[in-house]
Amino acid sequence: MIIWLTGLPGAGKTTIAYKVKAMLAAQGVESEILDGDEVRKKISADLGFSPEDRATHNRRVIDIAKKLSEDRVVLISLISPIRSVRNHAREVLSPRFAEVYVKCPLEVCMKRDPKGLYAKAVRGEVKNLTGYNDPYEDPLEPELVIHTDRETVDESACRVLSLIPQSQPKSIPR
Ligand code: ADP
Repeated sequence: MIIWLTGLPGAGKTTIAYKVKAMLAAQGVESEILDGDEVRKKISADLGFSPEDRATHNRRVIDIAKKLSEDRVVLISLISPIRSVRNHAREVLSPRFAEVYVKCPLEVCMKRDPKGLYAKAVRGEVKNLTGYNDPYEDPLEPELVIHTDRETVDESACRVLSLIPQSQPKSIPR
């Protein structure tokens, strides 16, 4: 199963991915997180943030996710602002793919600003920041929408967990 968490910077994708991973581990289910920023440093250091480069980066993530998902749950935390790229992921990874829209108003994301990116963008030091000065294309038919300004991390993580068949407790026949 591949859970694709998409949303604005600071919406809570990474926080929720780690919570879900911990919940799965508690059930003995192995999972791997592909964090957009981390993966970018490792496999896409040659790329920038133009639409073409973002699409290339996301395609590389899709390839890795496909391989990893053969024997574990894959949690992808990736802004992935381009709808056509997410739809490509759906086509390639279906039927094990679920898109989760981690939704949070821009003002709240800007207040959280966990990486200081919005502050930099406001000062003009960062260009192409999704949501601020670069477009984010809302998912049209995601499997799940979570509202991190209204739900706790635990609530959101439990809702994501419900998408993962491996996480359902198995009933033991008597
Ligand atoms: P992203 O990966 O989407 O860029 P992060 O997970 O790195 O976002 O940061 C989200 C920030 O918002 C964290 O500091 C987290 O503690 C905080 N936060 C507050 N409420 C929530 C919530 N309900 N769900 C997820 N994150 C939340």
